[in-house]
Amino acid sequence: MVRAMEQFSSDQLYAKVSHSIPAIEWPAFAGDIDAILALKRDRNAVILAHNYQTPEIYHCVADIVGDSLALAREAMQVEADVIVLAGVHFMAETAKLLNPSKTVLIPDRGAGCSLADSITPEDVRLLRQSYPGVPIVTYVNTSAAVKAESDICCTSGNARAVIESLGVERVIMLPDEYLARNIAAETKVKVITWTGHCEVHERFSAEEVRQLRENHPGIVVLAHPECPPEVLAEADFAGSTAAISSYVAKQRPPRVVLLTECSMSDNIAIQYPDLEFIRPCNLCPHMKRITLGNIRHALETMQHQVTIDDGIAVRARLAVERMLEVK
Ligand code: SF4
Repeated sequence: MVRAMEQFSSDQLYAKVSHSIPAIEWPAFAGDIDAILALKRDRNAVILAHNYQTPEIYHCVADIVGDSLALAREAMQVEADVIVLAGVHFMAETAKLLNPSKTVLIPDRGAGCSLADSITPEDVRLLRQSYPGVPIVTYVNTSAAVKAESDICCTSGNARAVIESLGVERVIMLPDEYLARNIAAETKVKVITWTGHCEVHERFSAEEVRQLRENHPGIVVLAHPECPPEVLAEADFAGSTAAISSYVAKQRPPRVVLLTECSMSDNIAIQYPDLEFIRPCNLCPHMKRITLGNIRHALETMQHQVTIDDGIAVRARLAVERMLEVK
C-alpha cells in the first residue's frame, strides 16, 4: 500500500527532488531518508556525496557535495567521527588518507572506477624506470597504492595548474589518456600519457555533439575533460563538474547540455528551473552502486570500513597533499 505524503519527517525535503522523483514513489525513499538522518546524529557521521550521486542522496541526505577535489578538501576538515563516502572507492580512500583518525565507510565495496582499474603500482614503477627523472602526475581516480608510486596527484579541476607547478618540460600523466591529451593541448609542458579511459565519458562522440546542435538549436555544450579530445573540440566549454556548475551559474545558458554523468544534470537542474537541460544519459554503473539502502546499512552496521596499509598511506598522502598545496 502506498503511504500518503506528510507521514515522514523528511517529507519537507520532497520539494528538492520533485523534478526527478514522482510523488507516488516518494514514500519508498522517505523511510530510508528518515532512518539515515537519525543514524547520522546517533553515529556523529557526515555524508560526503559526489556530484554524480542520484538526487535523493545528493539533496536529501548529503552534508557536503562536490567534485573529487572539493570532497578531498572537505574530508580533511571533517570533525565528525564517521565519514560516509557516497561515491566510489578511490574517493573513500582519499578521505581516509587525508583524515586518517576518522572511520570512513563506503556503502558498497564494489563501487570502483574504470580509470582506477586501468593501472597498477607495478605499471607505475615500470614507467618510472622507462622515463627516469620525469615526474609522475596521477589523477585522483586511482588506488592509494598507485598514488603511493606517484610524485603528485591532480584532479580534472587542477590538472593544468599541478603540471605547470612542477617547472619541468615533461611529465607523465596517469591514467586518463583523454584528460592528459586535453590538458596537453592547453600547456607547453610535454605530457606522456597512459591508456586508461572513463567508461562514461569515452562514450560521447563528436557526431553526437553535432546531432545535439542540429536537434536543439542554440544549445550550449559543456564537456568534462575525460571526454575524447574531438568531443571537446566541438564543445563550447570544458571543465570539471565544479567548473561546469559554475559556468551554468554565471552564464545561465537558456538551453544547455552537460557531457558528463547524467545525475549531474538532475542535481543542478533544480536550481535553474528557467533553463532547459537536454539530458543524454550516460550513467556510471559504479556511482550507481551507492543507494539510500546501502548508506543506511553502512551506518547501521558501520560497514564497510576503508583501511589502507600504513606504508602505502604515508606515500600516497604525500602525493595528495602536494596537490592540495598547488594554488
Ligand atoms: S564516471 Fe568514470 S571516472 Fe567517474 S567513477 Fe565512473 S568510471 Fe570512474
